Amino acid sequence: MRLCVFCGSSDGAAPLYREGAQALGRHLARSGVGLVYGGGKVGLMGAVADAALEAGGEVIGVMPRPLVEKEIGHAGLTTLHVVGSMHERKAMMADLADGFVALPGGLGTFEELFEVWTWAQLGYHPKPVSLLNVGGFYDGLLAFLDHVVGQGFVREPHRAMLICAQDPAELLTRIRAYEPPRVVKWVQANER
Ligand code: AMP
Repeated sequence: MRLCVFCGSSDGAAPLYREGAQALGRHLARSGVGLVYGGGKVGLMGAVADAALEAGGEVIGVMPRPLVEKEIGHAGLTTLHVVGSMHERKAMMADLADGFVALPGGLGTFEELFEVWTWAQLGYHPKPVSLLNVGGFYDGLLAFLDHVVGQGFVREPHRAMLICAQDPAELLTRIRAYEPPRVVKWVQANER
């Protein structure tokens, strides 16, 4: 099994974010789960990859050529795929992984998380999508998502697809137990 981790190219404002990324990397490696990630050395990306490598795990990076210098391509990975564009990166990361985890991060992290979640909602893939809510980082987003359900823009079964845990062990247990919902995004003509 391999999991794709989306995370910040920054460290964040407190040491707990780096520690959370390291804890996830270690736990994946010790559980025999390969890591697929953006391939960089910077920020939480580097932290999760280094921790997984130190614990003897498989780490696969996927990086668009224009970012190899900016995000500093990691030279010590099991494999580093250098691709032509951001779209190729995201498609390859999604293909290589059996599920997705978002750590704290910024705009790139959110974009990646919501893309794989919306693909899952449309039934394009059956893979679990999750958040490691380090230090309650995502509490505000989770509350907003509940608001969105309340306002009728997301169906409850689609909201419930997003697995969320504070601890890597609990997160991995729930990822392994995940079953995709049977509710389709688009209503049938006779439901209207
Ligand atoms: P960030 O969370 O903004 O620090 O970015 C985390 C990772 O997301 C980086 O490796 C970015 O290259 C990547 N990323 C993926 N898609 C995008 C996008 N549309 N815009 C910006 N960054 C992105």
